[in-house]
Amino acid sequence: MIDLNSLFEKRPLIIAGPCSAETEEQTIETARQLAANGIKVFRAGIWKPRTRPGNFEGIGTVGLPWMQRVKEETGMITSTEVANTHHVEEAVNAGIDIIWIGARTSANPFAMQEIADCLKGVEIPVLVKNPVNPDVDLWLGAVERLQDAGISQIGLIHRGFSSYEKILYRNAPLWQIPIEMKRRRPDLHLICDPSHIAGKREYLFEIAQKALDLNVDGLMIESHINPDKAWSDAKQQLTPAALNEMLGNLVIRDVLPQGISPKLLDELRAKIDVIDDLLIDLLKKRMSISEGIGRYKKENKMAVLQPARWDSLLNKYMMMAGENSLSRELITKIFQAIHQESINIQDKIINPKK
Ligand code: PEP
Ligand code: MN
Repeated sequence: MIDLNSLFEKRPLIIAGPCSAETEEQTIETARQLAANGIKVFRAGIWKPRTRPGNFEGIGTVGLPWMQRVKEETGMITSTEVANTHHVEEAVNAGIDIIWIGARTSANPFAMQEIADCLKGVEIPVLVKNPVNPDVDLWLGAVERLQDAGISQIGLIHRGFSSYEKILYRNAPLWQIPIEMKRRRPDLHLICDPSHIAGKREYLFEIAQKALDLNVDGLMIESHINPDKAWSDAKQQLTPAALNEMLGNLVIRDVLPQGISPKLLDELRAKIDVIDDLLIDLLKKRMSISEGIGRYKKENKMAVLQPARWDSLLNKYMMMAGENSLSRELITKIFQAIHQESINIQDKIINPKK
């Protein structure tokens, strides 16, 4: 069995391969080129969850022996996505080394439970992609179901989140979610999947670099010998050569590079901690004043939202942001959140729940 931890000894771990295994030739040739560039872990989707029917839904079982060939001919470790118990059984029987749970599956507790039950007694590393919706608990729940079933080797993959609004990328990265996940589960390795965040190959580098700067442990990137002709996710895939070039341009910064004393960093962090404590204290004081305002408005039958006041405050904050070289975007976000909370507090006082 593969030892997942040992794969991360040389960071970042790179997992690469096509979105989908399409033909034997395409699968083996992609793997050969990746292996020649030193990539150790191969990915290829055998069963593909597609948003709309009618798209290529994966080659299915016939592709499994191709993965076996990849292993034999290149020595790479193989990985694929499983979305139900049938996939789990077939993948395990075909000697796939690592399985991953896709974003649509990790969002579904029933599916997760079935997969976890089916994996009882099977020793295979499982990587869990974040659910399509930005819900840390749902992601955590998927992991816990696997752990409860006795799966001991688990990793996380951040692949971004669906968004109704049109955004630059295919999936919104919402970096705060993987950061929070890492805070809650520092014991699990976190891999970023820039391909499914980007949706287009031109954005891969910036996302991968950002992920590395946030100290992820690995990257999963889609690579295809003929990306434009790929049967799925054509726009976001890279040739093995282009991937190699991109990886070469990434800057890898250590959390604590060798020979560097953390003393100054500790001091700066301590200062930040003090300021954060002050911020919390100030917020507490501010919210208790909001309660007083709520009571006043209630007694005087005034509406909670006073648009003219809010507008003039926001203008003032914008000016202050400029004067203090703070980003207007940051100040708007912070004060919108504070103002909203203040409204909620006043609203609770004016309209107490029976
Ligand atoms: C994939 O890795 O090809 C895939 C379908 O990913 P996701 O579950 O992140 O959409
Ligand atoms: Mn894909």
